[in-house]
Amino acid sequence: MTRAWFGPCPHCQGPLSYLEGVAGSTLSPSCPFCHAPVTVSRATFLMRDHSRPSQPRRSPAPPTKP
Ligand SMILES: [Zn+2]
Repeated sequence: MTRAWFGPCPHCQGPLSYLEGVAGSTLSPSCPFCHAPVTVSRATFLMRDHSRPSQPRRSPAPPTKP
């Protein structure tokens, strides 16, 4: 049985999709952002979560002059 849920990486807080039970899933998948192993209770495959913008950019920060 496959299950998918979304949550942040416990290391870098990057937005992740946790896909349980899919091909290639392991009990210690690596975060695609920081490449640190994430310990999970079920075999999981980690993907970057593209369903929402990770960092909303409303206005670019003005460059600071030295
Ligand atoms: Zn991470």
